[in-house]
Amino acid sequence: MTGQVEGKVALVTGGASGIGAAIVDLLAQEGASVIATDIDELNGPELAARLRKAGRDVSFLPQDVTSEERWAEVIAEIGKRHGRLDVMVSNAGIGIGAPSIVEMSLADWRRQTAINLDGVFLSVKHSLPLMRKHGGGSIIMMSSLAGLRGAASLSGYSATKGAVRLFAKSIAMECAQVGDGIRVNSVHPGIIDTPIWGKIPTGATGAGQNAPIDPEERARFATPLGRAGQAIEIAHGVLYLASDASRYVTGTELVIDGGMNAGGVVRQ
Ligand code: NAD
Repeated sequence: MTGQVEGKVALVTGGASGIGAAIVDLLAQEGASVIATDIDELNGPELAARLRKAGRDVSFLPQDVTSEERWAEVIAEIGKRHGRLDVMVSNAGIGIGAPSIVEMSLADWRRQTAINLDGVFLSVKHSLPLMRKHGGGSIIMMSSLAGLRGAASLSGYSATKGAVRLFAKSIAMECAQVGDGIRVNSVHPGIIDTPIWGKIPTGATGAGQNAPIDPEERARFATPLGRAGQAIEIAHGVLYLASDASRYVTGTELVIDGGMNAGGVVRQ
Protein backbone atom coordinates (compact mmCIF):
# COMPACT_ATOMS: atom_id res chain seq x y z
CA MET A 1 0.00 0.00 0.00
CA THR A 2 1.50 3.32 -1.00
CA GLY A 3 -1.19 5.40 0.69
CA GLN A 4 -1.73 8.20 -1.82
CA VAL A 5 -5.12 9.00 -0.24
CA GLU A 6 -4.39 7.70 3.27
CA GLY A 7 -6.90 8.98 5.84
CA LYS A 8 -9.29 10.48 3.30
CA VAL A 9 -13.00 9.64 3.18
CA ALA A 10 -14.33 9.14 -0.35
CA LEU A 11 -17.83 8.68 -1.78
CA VAL A 12 -18.12 7.03 -5.19
CA THR A 13 -21.51 6.90 -6.94
CA GLY A 14 -22.16 4.11 -9.41
CA GLY A 15 -19.55 2.17 -7.45
CA ALA A 16 -20.94 -1.31 -8.11
CA SER A 17 -19.70 -1.77 -11.66
CA GLY A 18 -17.12 -0.86 -14.28
CA ILE A 19 -15.20 2.38 -13.78
CA GLY A 20 -16.84 3.11 -10.40
CA ALA A 21 -15.89 -0.31 -9.01
CA ALA A 22 -12.28 0.17 -10.16
CA ILE A 23 -12.20 3.59 -8.46
CA VAL A 24 -13.58 2.13 -5.21
CA ASP A 25 -10.93 -0.61 -5.29
CA LEU A 26 -8.00 1.71 -6.08
CA LEU A 27 -8.90 4.49 -3.61
CA ALA A 28 -9.33 1.89 -0.85
CA GLN A 29 -6.05 0.22 -1.81
CA GLU A 30 -4.40 3.63 -1.48
CA GLY A 31 -5.65 4.09 2.06
CA ALA A 32 -9.02 5.87 1.78
CA SER A 33 -12.19 4.93 3.62
CA VAL A 34 -14.55 4.45 0.69
CA ILE A 35 -18.33 4.54 0.58
CA ALA A 36 -19.63 3.05 -2.66
CA THR A 37 -23.23 3.79 -3.59
CA ASP A 38 -25.36 2.41 -6.41
CA ILE A 39 -28.85 1.26 -7.35
CA ASP A 40 -27.31 -2.19 -7.89
CA GLU A 41 -27.93 -3.82 -4.52
CA LEU A 42 -26.43 -7.13 -5.63
CA ASN A 43 -22.98 -6.30 -6.96
CA GLY A 44 -22.43 -3.26 -4.71
CA PRO A 45 -22.57 -5.08 -1.37
CA GLU A 46 -20.65 -8.02 -2.88
CA LEU A 47 -17.79 -5.76 -3.99
CA ALA A 48 -17.67 -4.03 -0.59
CA ALA A 49 -17.62 -7.39 1.23
CA ARG A 50 -14.84 -8.73 -1.01
CA LEU A 51 -12.69 -5.64 -0.44
CA ARG A 52 -13.33 -5.67 3.31
CA LYS A 53 -12.10 -9.28 3.36
CA ALA A 54 -8.90 -8.00 1.75
CA GLY A 55 -8.52 -5.59 4.67
CA ARG A 56 -9.82 -2.44 2.99
CA ASP A 57 -12.22 0.07 4.52
CA VAL A 58 -15.13 -0.09 2.06
CA SER A 59 -18.86 0.09 2.72
CA PHE A 60 -21.88 0.13 0.45
CA LEU A 61 -25.03 2.24 0.65
CA PRO A 62 -27.94 1.81 -1.77
CA GLN A 63 -28.59 5.07 -3.59
CA ASP A 64 -30.45 6.33 -6.62
CA VAL A 65 -28.55 9.51 -7.51
CA THR A 66 -31.72 11.15 -8.84
CA SER A 67 -33.37 11.18 -5.40
CA GLU A 68 -32.63 14.36 -3.43
CA GLU A 69 -34.12 12.80 -0.31
CA ARG A 70 -31.67 9.90 -0.54
CA TRP A 71 -28.74 12.29 -1.08
CA ALA A 72 -29.56 13.98 2.23
CA GLU A 73 -29.69 10.58 3.98
CA VAL A 74 -26.43 9.30 2.45
CA ILE A 75 -24.47 12.43 3.36
CA ALA A 76 -25.96 12.43 6.89
CA GLU A 77 -24.89 8.78 7.27
CA ILE A 78 -21.33 9.59 6.14
CA GLY A 79 -21.25 12.54 8.54
CA LYS A 80 -22.35 10.25 11.37
CA ARG A 81 -19.92 7.44 10.54
CA HIS A 82 -16.84 9.40 9.47
CA GLY A 83 -17.48 13.03 10.44
CA ARG A 84 -15.99 14.23 7.17
CA LEU A 85 -15.92 13.85 3.38
CA ASP A 86 -12.75 14.56 1.40
CA VAL A 87 -13.42 13.11 -2.02
CA MET A 88 -16.69 13.10 -3.99
CA VAL A 89 -16.59 11.04 -7.20
CA SER A 90 -19.80 11.65 -9.19
CA ASN A 91 -19.51 8.68 -11.47
CA ALA A 92 -22.97 7.08 -11.87
CA GLY A 93 -24.20 7.36 -15.43
CA ILE A 94 -26.10 5.65 -18.24
CA GLY A 95 -26.07 5.83 -22.01
CA ILE A 96 -29.22 5.83 -24.10
CA GLY A 97 -28.70 5.77 -27.82
CA ALA A 98 -31.02 6.46 -30.73
CA PRO A 99 -30.17 5.94 -34.42
CA SER A 100 -31.76 9.36 -34.98
CA ILE A 101 -32.71 12.00 -32.42
CA VAL A 102 -36.25 12.02 -33.82
CA GLU A 103 -36.59 8.49 -32.46
CA MET A 104 -35.65 9.45 -28.91
CA SER A 105 -38.57 9.62 -26.51
CA LEU A 106 -38.82 12.52 -24.10
CA ALA A 107 -39.02 9.99 -21.26
CA ASP A 108 -35.60 8.52 -22.24
CA TRP A 109 -34.10 12.00 -22.70
CA ARG A 110 -35.29 12.98 -19.22
CA ARG A 111 -34.16 9.72 -17.57
CA GLN A 112 -30.67 10.07 -19.01
CA THR A 113 -30.49 13.73 -17.99
CA ALA A 114 -31.81 12.93 -14.51
CA ILE A 115 -29.04 10.40 -13.83
CA ASN A 116 -26.12 11.93 -15.76
CA LEU A 117 -26.71 15.61 -14.95
CA ASP A 118 -29.26 16.07 -12.11
CA GLY A 119 -27.42 13.33 -10.18
CA VAL A 120 -24.16 15.27 -10.45
CA PHE A 121 -25.85 18.52 -9.40
CA LEU A 122 -27.31 16.79 -6.33
CA SER A 123 -23.93 15.24 -5.47
CA VAL A 124 -22.37 18.70 -5.33
CA LYS A 125 -25.26 20.38 -3.54
CA HIS A 126 -25.28 17.79 -0.77
CA SER A 127 -21.56 17.02 -0.39
CA LEU A 128 -20.22 20.59 -0.35
CA PRO A 129 -21.38 21.50 3.20
CA LEU A 130 -19.73 18.39 4.74
CA MET A 131 -16.55 18.88 2.68
CA ARG A 132 -16.39 22.53 3.67
CA LYS A 133 -16.60 21.67 7.38
CA HIS A 134 -13.14 20.12 7.23
CA GLY A 135 -11.32 22.61 5.08
CA GLY A 136 -11.77 21.25 1.60
CA GLY A 137 -11.43 18.28 -0.66
CA SER A 138 -11.75 17.15 -4.23
CA ILE A 139 -14.85 16.74 -6.39
CA ILE A 140 -14.40 14.61 -9.50
CA MET A 141 -17.17 14.45 -12.10
CA MET A 142 -17.26 11.65 -14.66
CA SER A 143 -17.87 13.21 -18.04
CA SER A 144 -16.81 11.53 -21.29
CA LEU A 145 -15.03 12.07 -24.56
CA ALA A 146 -18.64 12.60 -25.69
CA GLY A 147 -18.61 15.66 -23.41
CA LEU A 148 -15.87 17.22 -25.54
CA ARG A 149 -17.11 16.38 -29.02
CA GLY A 150 -20.33 15.27 -30.64
CA ALA A 151 -21.43 11.66 -30.83
CA ALA A 152 -23.87 10.61 -33.57
CA SER A 153 -26.61 8.38 -32.14
CA LEU A 154 -25.59 9.32 -28.59
CA SER A 155 -26.50 13.00 -28.83
CA GLY A 156 -28.58 13.07 -25.64
CA TYR A 157 -25.73 11.39 -23.75
CA SER A 158 -23.26 13.83 -25.27
CA ALA A 159 -25.43 16.78 -24.18
CA THR A 160 -25.44 15.59 -20.55
CA LYS A 161 -21.69 14.99 -20.51
CA GLY A 162 -20.91 18.37 -22.10
CA ALA A 163 -23.04 20.00 -19.42
CA VAL A 164 -21.16 18.13 -16.70
CA ARG A 165 -17.87 19.48 -18.08
CA LEU A 166 -18.96 23.13 -17.73
CA PHE A 167 -20.73 22.46 -14.44
CA ALA A 168 -17.38 21.22 -13.07
CA LYS A 169 -15.61 24.38 -14.21
CA SER A 170 -18.33 26.61 -12.76
CA ILE A 171 -18.27 24.88 -9.36
CA ALA A 172 -14.47 25.04 -9.43
CA MET A 173 -14.81 28.84 -9.80
CA GLU A 174 -17.41 29.07 -7.02
CA CYS A 175 -15.17 27.11 -4.64
CA ALA A 176 -12.06 29.09 -5.58
CA GLN A 177 -13.98 32.33 -5.10
CA VAL A 178 -15.07 31.47 -1.56
CA GLY A 179 -11.66 29.90 -0.87
CA ASP A 180 -13.07 26.74 0.69
CA GLY A 181 -10.15 24.51 -0.37
CA ILE A 182 -12.30 22.38 -2.66
CA ARG A 183 -10.97 21.51 -6.10
CA VAL A 184 -13.34 20.43 -8.87
CA ASN A 185 -12.39 18.65 -12.09
CA SER A 186 -13.94 16.46 -14.78
CA VAL A 187 -12.66 13.19 -16.22
CA HIS A 188 -13.23 12.26 -19.87
CA PRO A 189 -12.84 8.57 -20.70
CA GLY A 190 -12.79 7.39 -24.31
CA ILE A 191 -13.96 3.84 -25.12
CA ILE A 192 -13.57 1.84 -21.93
CA ASP A 193 -14.36 -1.86 -21.68
CA THR A 194 -17.12 -1.93 -19.04
CA PRO A 195 -20.65 -3.38 -18.83
CA ILE A 196 -22.14 -0.01 -19.96
CA TRP A 197 -21.69 -1.00 -23.61
CA GLY A 198 -23.98 -3.98 -23.17
CA LYS A 199 -26.66 -1.82 -21.56
CA ILE A 200 -27.06 0.90 -24.20
CA PRO A 201 -30.64 0.43 -25.44
CA THR A 202 -31.59 0.97 -29.09
CA GLY A 203 -29.33 0.78 -32.12
CA ALA A 204 -26.61 3.23 -31.18
CA THR A 205 -24.26 1.37 -33.53
CA GLY A 206 -26.54 2.07 -36.42
CA ALA A 207 -26.84 -1.72 -36.69
CA GLY A 208 -30.41 -1.95 -35.46
CA GLN A 209 -32.34 -2.08 -32.23
CA ASN A 210 -30.47 -3.46 -29.23
CA ALA A 211 -27.44 -4.42 -31.27
CA PRO A 212 -24.67 -5.34 -28.83
CA ILE A 213 -21.70 -3.01 -28.93
CA ASP A 214 -18.26 -4.56 -28.53
CA PRO A 215 -16.01 -1.81 -27.10
CA GLU A 216 -12.84 -3.60 -28.19
CA GLU A 217 -14.02 -3.82 -31.78
CA ARG A 218 -15.11 -0.18 -31.70
CA ALA A 219 -11.82 0.99 -30.27
CA ARG A 220 -9.52 -0.97 -32.58
CA PHE A 221 -9.80 1.54 -35.41
CA ALA A 222 -11.35 4.54 -33.66
CA THR A 223 -8.60 4.82 -31.05
CA PRO A 224 -5.01 5.83 -31.92
CA LEU A 225 -3.64 3.40 -29.31
CA GLY A 226 -5.63 0.67 -31.05
CA ARG A 227 -7.55 -0.78 -28.13
CA ALA A 228 -10.29 -0.09 -25.61
CA GLY A 229 -9.23 1.30 -22.25
CA GLN A 230 -9.61 -0.57 -18.97
CA ALA A 231 -11.56 0.75 -15.98
CA ILE A 232 -8.40 0.78 -13.86
CA GLU A 233 -6.81 3.20 -16.35
CA ILE A 234 -9.57 5.71 -15.53
CA ALA A 235 -9.28 4.97 -11.82
CA HIS A 236 -5.62 6.01 -11.87
CA GLY A 237 -6.63 9.43 -13.22
CA VAL A 238 -9.26 9.74 -10.51
CA LEU A 239 -6.70 8.75 -7.86
CA TYR A 240 -4.43 11.59 -9.03
CA LEU A 241 -7.28 14.12 -8.81
CA ALA A 242 -8.35 12.77 -5.39
CA SER A 243 -4.84 12.92 -3.95
CA ASP A 244 -2.84 15.91 -2.79
CA ALA A 245 -0.49 15.39 -5.76
CA SER A 246 -3.07 17.41 -7.75
CA ARG A 247 -3.35 20.22 -5.17
CA TYR A 248 -2.79 22.93 -7.84
CA VAL A 249 -5.31 21.40 -10.28
CA THR A 250 -8.86 22.74 -10.45
CA GLY A 251 -11.39 23.53 -13.18
CA THR A 252 -9.66 21.31 -15.68
CA GLU A 253 -10.51 18.23 -17.69
CA LEU A 254 -8.52 15.02 -17.64
CA VAL A 255 -8.91 13.17 -20.93
CA ILE A 256 -8.06 9.45 -20.78
CA ASP A 257 -8.93 8.17 -24.24
CA GLY A 258 -6.04 6.40 -25.92
CA GLY A 259 -5.49 9.52 -28.05
CA MET A 260 -8.95 9.76 -29.65
CA ASN A 261 -9.43 13.44 -28.90
CA ALA A 262 -6.06 14.33 -30.41
CA GLY A 263 -6.84 13.04 -33.88
CA GLY A 264 -6.78 9.85 -35.91
CA VAL A 265 -4.12 7.51 -37.21
CA VAL A 266 -4.12 5.39 -40.35
CA ARG A 267 -3.30 1.78 -39.60
CA GLN A 268 -1.35 -0.27 -42.18
P1 NAD B 1 -21.38 0.75 -15.80
O1 NAD B 1 -22.70 0.56 -16.40
O2 NAD B 1 -20.45 -0.40 -15.70
O3 NAD B 1 -21.50 1.42 -14.36
C1 NAD B 1 -22.42 2.46 -14.09
C2 NAD B 1 -23.00 2.26 -12.71
O4 NAD B 1 -23.92 3.33 -12.45
C3 NAD B 1 -23.77 0.94 -12.57
O5 NAD B 1 -23.33 0.21 -11.45
C4 NAD B 1 -25.21 1.39 -12.41
O6 NAD B 1 -25.98 0.53 -11.61
C5 NAD B 1 -25.02 2.76 -11.79
N1 NAD B 1 -26.22 3.59 -11.92
C6 NAD B 1 -27.02 3.71 -13.00
N2 NAD B 1 -28.06 4.50 -12.71
C7 NAD B 1 -27.92 4.89 -11.42
C8 NAD B 1 -28.67 5.70 -10.53
N3 NAD B 1 -29.82 6.27 -10.92
N4 NAD B 1 -28.20 5.90 -9.28
C9 NAD B 1 -27.07 5.30 -8.86
N5 NAD B 1 -26.31 4.51 -9.65
C10 NAD B 1 -26.74 4.31 -10.91
O7 NAD B 1 -20.69 1.91 -16.68
P2 NAD B 1 -19.23 2.58 -16.64
O8 NAD B 1 -18.68 2.43 -18.00
O9 NAD B 1 -18.46 2.11 -15.49
O10 NAD B 1 -19.65 4.11 -16.46
C11 NAD B 1 -19.26 4.91 -15.36
C12 NAD B 1 -19.27 6.35 -15.80
O11 NAD B 1 -18.28 6.53 -16.82
C13 NAD B 1 -20.60 6.82 -16.42
O12 NAD B 1 -20.87 8.13 -15.99
C14 NAD B 1 -20.32 6.80 -17.91
O13 NAD B 1 -21.12 7.68 -18.62
C15 NAD B 1 -18.85 7.21 -17.92
N6 NAD B 1 -18.14 6.86 -19.16
C16 NAD B 1 -17.98 5.55 -19.52
C17 NAD B 1 -17.30 5.26 -20.71
C18 NAD B 1 -17.08 3.85 -21.19
O14 NAD B 1 -16.64 3.66 -22.35
N7 NAD B 1 -17.34 2.83 -20.39
C19 NAD B 1 -16.81 6.30 -21.51
C20 NAD B 1 -16.99 7.61 -21.09
C21 NAD B 1 -17.65 7.89 -19.91
